[in-house]
Amino acid sequence: MSASFAAVQISAEAWLERLAQLATRNGLLLSTVRERDARDFELLLASATLFLPAGQLLDERGANGCLRQFLDTAGAMLDTDHVELRRWLADLGFVHRTDRGTDYRRGVLPAWLAAAAAVLSAGALAEAVRTARSARDRDRAARKAAWMLRSAPASPAGDAAAAGAIEVIEQPPPPVEHSAQDQTLMRLALDQAHNAWALGEVPVGALVVRDGQVIATGFNQPIGNSDPTAHAEVQALRAAAELLGNYRLSHCELYVTLEPCAMCAGAIQHARIKRLVFGARDHKTGACGSVIDLFAEPRLNHHTRVERGVLAEECGGLLTRFFAERRSAPGGQS
Ligand SMILES: [Zn+2]
Repeated sequence: MSASFAAVQISAEAWLERLAQLATRNGLLLSTVRERDARDFELLLASATLFLPAGQLLDERGANGCLRQFLDTAGAMLDTDHVELRRWLADLGFVHRTDRGTDYRRGVLPAWLAAAAAVLSAGALAEAVRTARSARDRDRAARKAAWMLRSAPASPAGDAAAAGAIEVIEQPPPPVEHSAQDQTLMRLALDQAHNAWALGEVPVGALVVRDGQVIATGFNQPIGNSDPTAHAEVQALRAAAELLGNYRLSHCELYVTLEPCAMCAGAIQHARIKRLVFGARDHKTGACGSVIDLFAEPRLNHHTRVERGVLAEECGGLLTRFFAERRSAPGGQS
């Protein structure tokens, strides 16, 4: 795999920069990275390898300790454990196992990484990731604070000043009063939408709620899951049905930040959801009134009440910012 990259050496700075970019994700699967970008995959495995002290033979326990330390720091964005990681590393030659199979040492890194590896340390990798992740967390907290300010009915001027650099856009008051409970739950759905964004997916989040309690969550993940049905609503419905051991969720409500599409509206009807609450309208694929209204069709549905526009500005604004950021990113697509 590495042979094709041999000609393009990476610098230590570029390594750290790419690792920091990957670090802003959560729950990254090595198998997915491998399919999407073989260079990222090798860079992550090489980063793990640098946590094994050079020129030292480690027993299995020692090797596991090093890999756990990687996963706690520079590998914090990965969804794996030290056993799976050790298997990848050994299978691909990043780490060598002795003939008896009991001891480990660093193997040979792909040629495009070798020169940078010689000047990089585990500490430098961990620091780059820590910095990137705390910047991401601060950014998310700031966005959340901005929403809270915007949706608060009468926020004192002092709060707005405290928001500092955050752009607080003045919005006209919503024409319909939504209950505080609906708004609180929609904020939780927005948190789920953020999880999608962190993985590079279109940020839509959903919750299933029963008796006022959140019993399942979901966020949009069709790219990561290679699954065209992995919309936030379907993810949340699946989790709720599995939890309850019942595909009928007749006593449940579904909250989602974006108007459901026809597929999700169908799934919501099959699940017999009692009440659907959504945020922003979707003028391209919305099936709850924007393009078509599958809930207004009496031959299809007798179960679901629909509440529209809860925190619509926040829910829509998140999508707008996501697409703006993606367009302005280097090599960004529309
Ligand atoms: Zn959908």
